[in-house]
Amino acid sequence: MFADSEELGMLADTVRRAAREKIAPLAASIDEKGEFNREVAALLWDLGLMTLTFPAQHGGMERDKGTALSLAVEEIARHCASSSLLLIIQAVGCFPIIHGGRPGMLEKLLPRMVENRELAAYLVTEPSAGSDVGAIRATAVKDGGEYVLTGTKVFATNGAVASVYAVLARTSAAAGRDGLSFFLVERDTPGLSIGRIEKKLGQRGSNTAEVILDEVRVPSGNLLGEEGKGFRLAMKDFDMSRPAVGAQALGIAEGALAEMVQYARQRKTFGKLLCEHQMIQQIIADSATLIEASRGLVYRAARLFDEGQRNTKLASMAKVFASDAAMKITTDAIQVFGGYGYMRDFPVERMFRDAKLTQIFEGANQIQRLVIAREILKETA
Ligand SMILES: Cc1cc2nc3c(=O)[nH]c(=O)nc-3n(C[C@H](O)[C@H](O)[C@H](O)COP(=O)(O)OP(=O)(O)OC[C@H]3O[C@@H](n4cnc5c(N)ncnc54)[C@H](O)[C@@H]3O)c2cc1C
Repeated sequence: MFADSEELGMLADTVRRAAREKIAPLAASIDEKGEFNREVAALLWDLGLMTLTFPAQHGGMERDKGTALSLAVEEIARHCASSSLLLIIQAVGCFPIIHGGRPGMLEKLLPRMVENRELAAYLVTEPSAGSDVGAIRATAVKDGGEYVLTGTKVFATNGAVASVYAVLARTSAAAGRDGLSFFLVERDTPGLSIGRIEKKLGQRGSNTAEVILDEVRVPSGNLLGEEGKGFRLAMKDFDMSRPAVGAQALGIAEGALAEMVQYARQRKTFGKLLCEHQMIQQIIADSATLIEASRGLVYRAARLFDEGQRNTKLASMAKVFASDAAMKITTDAIQVFGGYGYMRDFPVERMFRDAKLTQIFEGANQIQRLVIAREILKETA
């Protein structure tokens, strides 16, 4: 845990208690059922966590929004990664709206979202455009005072349970990233439908859906930010969300370390407790060291974001390091449990599956490494 102000400390304490008492007991069944859990969503609204990154007058933090988001995500992910993803995607889906909405849009939309406890989703990925956002094919064609959106978005977290979507579509034939723009699309707009709901390896309590846009008409005022500048808005969103995904990986890793230490204190082999064998101690020591290093990167990247400084390199470093660390630590946690770790009876098996996603979404780790190298080459040019 990292909280460098009284306000952040109080937030972390509150979330830690709620996660331990109310979310942890549900984590195994959320995973088993593989369904979106409305009870957890309601709890996160009750705690004020679903609006952390909103402007303060609409329920958000006055400052330190990125750090607050990461702290809350970390505390919840220790027990249930699926539940922590709800916070990430609410922040990610609302970012283009909050930072690109026309005058008057937020004053109308955000109080309604708070009142009705509405969820947001972020519709960027397409069947042939994942890492390569510039390959997006969905189109938004201007028609009088409206845009007409057509295309298929896949892997949308909250896709089938959200009422508000930030959709990235092509507004001009300009090649690659230049012709892309974000739009606010409401769930009940004619032409929008939900396709397949994905069955997943991990974070199974999060809803992942295909969203189909078939000549969906939105007022031109639903354009978020400038036309053709959607890719830039998506990159700014990443500066907030990548530390948060790092925080999710950090939380999963902390959960796995706690489980392996507890088990190693109880299980005996060759007449000794597991924790008395030096090779097990090495796993514990390496895991704890990776966790400390992840924490340093995650909160440094989040702090830079909150200070309005360029954090793109640090955000990618935090995401790539913490997610690779979480994958290693959860794998090693299973090793400490031996055969029992391979069984569903112990949470390390779920943590191992949940950790894998942190290496893939919000930009797969290969892409993070490209970003880090690009930033270094720019700095040193
Ligand atoms: C559970 C889940 C939830 C998601 N939620 C959302 C969401 O809410 N909204 C949304 O828009 N998207 C979402 N995504 C999509 C996610 O961001 C993409 O899956 C991810 O960006 C990778 O894209 P892809 O799956 O098309 O893989 P690809 O782009 O096909 O990449 C395949 C592999 O090749 C590697 N690769 C690609 N290009 C290069 C390169 N130039 N050099 C080296 N290696 C490369 C990648 O790192 C990856 O390992 C989600 C995905 C999952 C699995």
